[in-house]
Amino acid sequence: MPLGEFELIARYFARPTRRAVLGVGDDCAVLAPTPGMELAVSSDLLVEGRHFLSTVPPQALGHKALAVNLSDLAACGAAPLAFLLMLALPRPDEAFLRGFAQGLFALADAHGIELIGGDTTAGPLTIGITVLGEVPPAAALRRSGGHAGDDLWVSHPRDGGIGDARLALEAFRGQAGLSQEAFAAVRRAMEWPQPRVTLAMALRGVASAAIDLSDGLAGDLGHLLAQSGVGAQLEWAGLPRSAAMAALPMALQQQCVLGGGDDYELLFSAPPSARSAVQSAAARAEVAVSRIGELRAEAGLRVRWSDGSVSPWATQGFDHFSSPGP
Ligand code: ADP
Ligand code: MG
Repeated sequence: MPLGEFELIARYFARPTRRAVLGVGDDCAVLAPTPGMELAVSSDLLVEGRHFLSTVPPQALGHKALAVNLSDLAACGAAPLAFLLMLALPRPDEAFLRGFAQGLFALADAHGIELIGGDTTAGPLTIGITVLGEVPPAAALRRSGGHAGDDLWVSHPRDGGIGDARLALEAFRGQAGLSQEAFAAVRRAMEWPQPRVTLAMALRGVASAAIDLSDGLAGDLGHLLAQSGVGAQLEWAGLPRSAAMAALPMALQQQCVLGGGDDYELLFSAPPSARSAVQSAAARAEVAVSRIGELRAEAGLRVRWSDGSVSPWATQGFDHFSSPGP
């Protein structure tokens, strides 16, 4: 007998609730939010062949499915509370479920949040997660709120840069030749993104606008610019690039760093007067941040290259209805 739906949920996804009043196993989950706080909610859907390759280890997939959702909460400066999991599986593959649940709950535990419900069905491998978080009244970071003259900042791993996840994808596609060591590092960036929750919470009241990088730096910056009603100039020399990235041909670097995708880093603006506040927020969160340019009154995105020349750059990011899958 294959594993049944309810046995599957009980075996892999039901754990004792800590914070929730009612969790997995009833018709609704019931949560008691902190009085006076605002609720932040976000969902993300991951489809095999579109958002992840079939080669991804189940543990990494469990991690990433939750990480991309936590990254959205982070972009709003919200503290995560709990999440729901919607799962479509071709068959109840226990080796897959074991690894997936391990990766998922390891990240959930690292952020002190619990799984409070969801839905499970047979179907092509698809993972939907809804995360719930809370933020003090009027403190949520938004895409709007950036002003001309504000610095632009991006978070990144201490030993890595922007675009590494995209570089891993290009390497999988055979479009980038990397050493074994460099490939392992960028693959880690693609499969194990670290949502910048702590940094974002520390940036409440400091950042003027924020967005998380999911569809590529230029495209996501474009959303922030549109909602803030400003333009921007990026400094190519200031963009954090890993050693493997910096050694590649310029066109590939531009494609990965500016076109990118799947970074799950925080892109935010802050007035120059807040530079030391930004640095101390980053230090507290133990994340590196780099100043990569500034917001300008003139609409559109421009890049100042290392030779001092400036050229316009399209703010076209990844679009599921006009871009091919991986
Ligand atoms: P209902 O039929 O009342 O909608 P379900 O039979 O779909 O309930 O689910 C039974 C219980 O298991 C519910 O509490 C639901 O939230 C939970 N659940 C179902 N799938 C998952 C999952 N993938 N992860 C966590 N909880 C789940
Ligand atoms: Mg019901």
